Amino acid sequence: MTAAAESTVTFDGRFARELAELAVPWQAEEAPDPELLVLNEKLAAGLGLDPQYLRSPEGVRLLVGNHLPAGATPVAQAYAGHQFGGYSPLLGDGRALLLGEVTDRAGHLLDIHLKGSGRTPFARAGDGRAVVGPMLREYVVSEAMHAVGIPTTRSLAVVATGRQVRREGMLPGAVLARVAHSHLRVGSFQYARATENMDLLKRLADHAISRLYPDAAVAPNPYLALFASVVAAQAGLVARWMLAGFVHGVMNTDNMTISGETIDYGPCAFLDAFNPTAVFSSIDVSGRYAYANQPILAEWNLARLAESMLPLIDGDEDKAVAAAVEVLGGFRGRYSTAWTGGMKTKLGLAAGNVSDDAASSVIDEVVAILKDGPVDYTLFFRNLGRAARGDLRPARKMVMDLAGFDAWSERWLALQPDAGLMDSVNPAYIPRNHLVEEALAAGTEGDVAPLHRLLQAVTDPFTERPGLERYVEGPPAGFGTYTTFCGT
Ligand code: AMP
Ligand code: MG
Repeated sequence: MTAAAESTVTFDGRFARELAELAVPWQAEEAPDPELLVLNEKLAAGLGLDPQYLRSPEGVRLLVGNHLPAGATPVAQAYAGHQFGGYSPLLGDGRALLLGEVTDRAGHLLDIHLKGSGRTPFARAGDGRAVVGPMLREYVVSEAMHAVGIPTTRSLAVVATGRQVRREGMLPGAVLARVAHSHLRVGSFQYARATENMDLLKRLADHAISRLYPDAAVAPNPYLALFASVVAAQAGLVARWMLAGFVHGVMNTDNMTISGETIDYGPCAFLDAFNPTAVFSSIDVSGRYAYANQPILAEWNLARLAESMLPLIDGDEDKAVAAAVEVLGGFRGRYSTAWTGGMKTKLGLAAGNVSDDAASSVIDEVVAILKDGPVDYTLFFRNLGRAARGDLRPARKMVMDLAGFDAWSERWLALQPDAGLMDSVNPAYIPRNHLVEEALAAGTEGDVAPLHRLLQAVTDPFTERPGLERYVEGPPAGFGTYTTFCGT
């Protein structure tokens, strides 16, 4: 019976076949005692994978790479990358494997990827492993991102391996199974470019076009169109991060996708109090990847992508540079349009009867109120929904400058904000740092109940439900400055 359930999905090895130079065939290390901690049943079903099968001993072994389904040809992917501005010519999947691709029910080809599956030839000094806490963090944060409409890799499952892993002390090991439209990164292009193998670079770009941006194939210059598509996708993505108050934390070029999906949740966090300089990563000492820097760093990363693609864009380097610079020059406008449009919606002003000028002045003023804060970013916008329905008190009591708020709210309410629209984009439930910490600490001790409760809240973030009040609130007094560590 289990065999029949499995056989409904055949894995493809398209990446491995088309880009063999970037794919090192490899096997996951044996998990001594695998235990399923969390399974995304809906996502599994969408992939045609029977959740019941995935819960079976063989299914759990599949999720850690120890049982290879039909057609799977696991590979570690090669890539390079700029890490905190410094170039590393060889990074690659040091502790991860692309199991293969599957076609989902909607007809999309999706990567199934394992993280924490053991050392690969790219492991350098690393142990190839991952531990329960950070893998649960990626699971809950990525699923929360998806639920608020932000493009992201998805999380299929976290399985504890039954092996203790050395970090600061010993911690339980885990493997995350995740799903993406592609795991190609800016760093994949940097790697291919550095090989000086133009055939490889071209095949990589063709693969990206075919899987992610098929329209680019028919453009006058398909490779320039590919670059423009990535610029547009990343401008839209980072605008959504900013609107949601999300700080990625490690925007290295190896952690930026070509698809425009958020990837590699390490020391990431959602803002509690609004703060442009917020940094959560313990290793980001210079604040390079602070909240407000993210659009600038995305643009910087895209410039590295452009450099890698120049020989494809035009045989004449000067012409290639001019074309790439022009496309990259569009990033800021696209970003601003996406952010302003999103902010208008957050304020309930998407209706056609509000002029751009009127909208931008209430946006500028609300940002000034937030900066004047400390104001809990998520809760403030949620409370503005109540204000739009006539109850100004919950929002008003969050701000310092009451007179300023009163003057602003009068101008804003005169524009007749749509409260229903606001509630459909301003989440009540986000993976709050203190709740994530609580769920991860319990999960590390073997109790996944708090994680499942948190998931219930954040995967249905816009509809407030009784019993979930504590998931709406900001951090308790004394939670302090939140820092996440890269010991992932
Ligand atoms: P990150 O910035 O965490 O996405 O990872 C940067 C690089 O380090 C990638 O090449 C990872 O594969 C590699 N890496 C991270 N942790 C480990 C580990 N525990 N073992 C081997 N490689 C690792
Ligand atoms: Mg990474």
